Amino acid sequence: MSLTKKIIIALVLGVVVGLGFNVFAPNAFVPVDTYVLTPLGQIFLRLITMLVVPLVFFSIILGTAGMGDTKKLGRIGSKTVGFYLLSTVVALCIAFAVALVIQPGQEGLMSQAEGSGYEAVEAPPVMETLLNIIPRNPIDALATGQMLQIIFFAIFIGFALAHFGEKTSGVYRLMEQGNDIMMFLVTIAMKLAPYGAFGLIASALGKLGLDALSSMAMYMICVVLALILHVVIVYSSTVYFLGKMNPIHFFKNFLPAMTVAFSTSSSNATLPVSMKTAQEKLGVSKPISGFVQPLGATINMDGTAIMQAVATVFIAQVFAEPLSVGALVTVVLTATLASIGTAGVPGVGMIMLAMVLQSVGLPVEGIALVLAVDRILDMLRTSVNITGDAACAVFVERSEGGKDQVEPV
Ligand code: ASP
Repeated sequence: MSLTKKIIIALVLGVVVGLGFNVFAPNAFVPVDTYVLTPLGQIFLRLITMLVVPLVFFSIILGTAGMGDTKKLGRIGSKTVGFYLLSTVVALCIAFAVALVIQPGQEGLMSQAEGSGYEAVEAPPVMETLLNIIPRNPIDALATGQMLQIIFFAIFIGFALAHFGEKTSGVYRLMEQGNDIMMFLVTIAMKLAPYGAFGLIASALGKLGLDALSSMAMYMICVVLALILHVVIVYSSTVYFLGKMNPIHFFKNFLPAMTVAFSTSSSNATLPVSMKTAQEKLGVSKPISGFVQPLGATINMDGTAIMQAVATVFIAQVFAEPLSVGALVTVVLTATLASIGTAGVPGVGMIMLAMVLQSVGLPVEGIALVLAVDRILDMLRTSVNITGDAACAVFVERSEGGKDQVEPV
């Protein structure tokens, strides 16, 4: 049986077992969760997370050095960042359209939010976030997993390797071998993916249950609908028109990575799997995948932006505060920035939502309303987040002339 099939069966079993415990045996859930489900999920999660920092470090260095000249790097860099920004703005527009048509918020929910005493975490100022990309101490950045700082440092090392050429070929080979070792370890860790996915999903749903979901049905429907529309319209057309690849081929082959993102809710943790899948199944070359995907996992979060746009409209409706066109534009700007600043780990999108709400003067207590169902939506949006990165990798690969491996339409 293929790995994808196994993971999907594990996910379905996880949903059944998790909800089964929640509804029929809530007391038995705690010990089962503590001693079986959580460890199962965590073993897998930790194994793939363990590989992220070294993999990003090696692959960005190789990606940058492999491009050879600064011109090529600049071209690929601008295509990548341009695509990421544009696709996030489109994602936000789709989310607005869906939320403004469906109107998920009702004023009656207001009292629930006001009584919750939810306090938002202060989002860091934009300038600080930007300056923070330059690490003071790269070892500290590596040790604490500061993705943007690691990427920044690795790009510089890659430059230097390209500059020195033959002189530093030993270091280049070391990076290459390090990368191969990490990729091999991903293959081993992936063997546990079905068990991990089962544990993670059963544990999450056992804690959550269905009650929270029903009261927020309209909000959830809006987010899910916007996510689906974005994937179907934007990513399909990207791979079809820009990547010259059949979208069905793309989604079918990328599915294992999407299911891992779904069960881990973390773009960072999924990165080793999504890079491996793009390289081996979608024919994206190592330098391009190694540059485009880690960057995307860190700064490109279309799914997160969609949740934030729908949540903003929802909260505005609950608090009966109409959003002007100017406010919508502000949301587009802040949510795009928030998407860059959001780390690819579970739940951060919700924290950054505070920044978006504040930018248009909406009460941050509103977050309390959407928090309950965020665990589920986080799974879905993380899958969308990493799919956007892969679609971009396919597009960049094609635009750089990588024709042989990419299956034609
Ligand atoms: N969990 C998301 C990711 O890793 C980020 C978020 O929206 O919370 O991509």
